[in-house]
Amino acid sequence: MKKYDFLIVGSGLFGSVFAHEMTKMGKKCLVIEKRDHKGGNVYCESVEGINVHKYGPHIFHTNDKGIWDYVNSFVEFNNFIYSPLANYQGQLFNLPFNMNTFYQLWKIGNPKEVEKKIKEQIEKENITAPQNLEDQAISMVGADIYNVFIKGYTEKQWGRKAKELPKFIIKRLPVRFTYDNNYFNDTYQGIPIGGYNKLIDGLLDGIEVRTGVDFFKDRNELIQITDRVVFTGKLDEFYDYKFGHLQYRSLRFEHKYLNLPNYQGVAGINFTDLNVPYTRIIEHKHFEFGKQKGTVITKEYPQEWSLGSEAFYPINDRMNMERLGVYQRLAKKEEKVIFGGRLAEYKYYDMHQVIASALSKVKKIIQADTMP
Ligand code: UDP
Repeated sequence: MKKYDFLIVGSGLFGSVFAHEMTKMGKKCLVIEKRDHKGGNVYCESVEGINVHKYGPHIFHTNDKGIWDYVNSFVEFNNFIYSPLANYQGQLFNLPFNMNTFYQLWKIGNPKEVEKKIKEQIEKENITAPQNLEDQAISMVGADIYNVFIKGYTEKQWGRKAKELPKFIIKRLPVRFTYDNNYFNDTYQGIPIGGYNKLIDGLLDGIEVRTGVDFFKDRNELIQITDRVVFTGKLDEFYDYKFGHLQYRSLRFEHKYLNLPNYQGVAGINFTDLNVPYTRIIEHKHFEFGKQKGTVITKEYPQEWSLGSEAFYPINDRMNMERLGVYQRLAKKEEKVIFGGRLAEYKYYDMHQVIASALSKVKKIIQADTMP
């Protein structure tokens, strides 16, 4: 008899939801985490009473009432709505692309006239079937918007030409002909009151968690004590990179405490000009309408992932997708290992999607286990 039913490698959202649900079903879980804290990239560090999103801003949004109720059963969420600004060469614009943005750019305030202008710009480019991010963006919003807000930001964010990037990335962003600065289209949106650690603590309540444990260092011993492994780290690392590395985009965060109550008046400002080396500045207190005396801001500098740095965004271009396919064929053959989450699935997941994927994986496993 093994000591644990599941050894869960990684205490981010996928691992925590999986552990929670399996524990509820009577399974014995051990969660290991290589960092010295739980929560993966949703972890917040408290600085002078401000919850700092240490690994990048996380704004919860979903259309799925079930997922919304699920997260709210662990911690109540506030009614924060993400409405970032764009700074292009010192000028400020509203995001996502909506009537406010169009008015600020062209001084046209009538939706019909704006639609006509964008349509003309789109037609001029004559793109019939967009195959990459640049063509997709131009065929959504035309060249003006593309050049001011998308090209520079995207190329520094991804370190690749927009023509070499998959088009689905830009489909995430809404385009609206109303004066509506809500960055997301989803019905439910907010930030956990008191920070994301409360969500993770709620999910992992009563479950054995060991932080500072590196799966790859103690792999042989760890697999002895468990029936199955749930792996949420990098898929290529699991196989010792034997078919080469999958590429990721990494980030360097420059956090700074400032002795003033309000630095930029909004949670996020995107710097869309290629010449500014960072992509955005986040001011964390605004996620929770903070009234603290000071403030914490974070500049995000994108960089290519290399051994030793943190992997944040999968790069779903053709070369990487082909390599991923090779690793996935190996993964499919594993009978005792389950792969899940942004890194192991190499997917540009949002939080609600990760939770949904963990819930559905648990359901499938329980069903398969109970089949005669
Ligand atoms: N994007 C852009 N300009 C912006 C914001 C986003 O061109 O001001 C593009 C960019 O390619 C980015 C993608 O839209 O990678 C998705 O943006 P999102 O804000 O969803 O990225 P995330 O919050 O996941 O980093």
